[in-house]
Amino acid sequence: MSAIDELVRNNDAFASGRYPGSQSGTPSTGVAVVTCMDARIDVYAMLGLRPGDAHVLRNAGGAVTEDVIRSLTLSQRLFGTQEVALVHHTDCGMLKVREQELKERVQRETGLRPPFALEAFTDLDDDVRQSIARVKASPYLPSTFEVRGFVYEVHSGRLREVVAVR
Ligand code: ZN
Repeated sequence: MSAIDELVRNNDAFASGRYPGSQSGTPSTGVAVVTCMDARIDVYAMLGLRPGDAHVLRNAGGAVTEDVIRSLTLSQRLFGTQEVALVHHTDCGMLKVREQELKERVQRETGLRPPFALEAFTDLDDDVRQSIARVKASPYLPSTFEVRGFVYEVHSGRLREVVAVR
């Protein structure tokens, strides 16, 4: 039995027991959160969110990639969100990755070199500022009322705001 089989069994219990019913697909807070896929981050618990409250976009590092811009564009145009919270975190795997090294390793092991940026970084606060700048610079996100960046401290559970350079 795979781990996924167990998840499917969990879903059966979820749907037949505690499921509260469908929420509106429009985020009630008007907020989109972009954060890392790190398994330790419980986005809903740490921000006091419940299903229906916010769009939560996750990828390795919480990088503002072209695909995140795509999702934010849809989030704003179709669902009216206007605030963007960017959350990076301490002890992130992307701090330990060396972009070229990992690309070479993938190429050695698979014969293919990834054509995309892995978005590794060496300074958390700098990368948060870079992410804020990317959202602000996007011509597709003129509805952004506010974009703020944070570092989530995985050991304390606390958010620390990173001040953007203006
Ligand atoms: Zn991470």
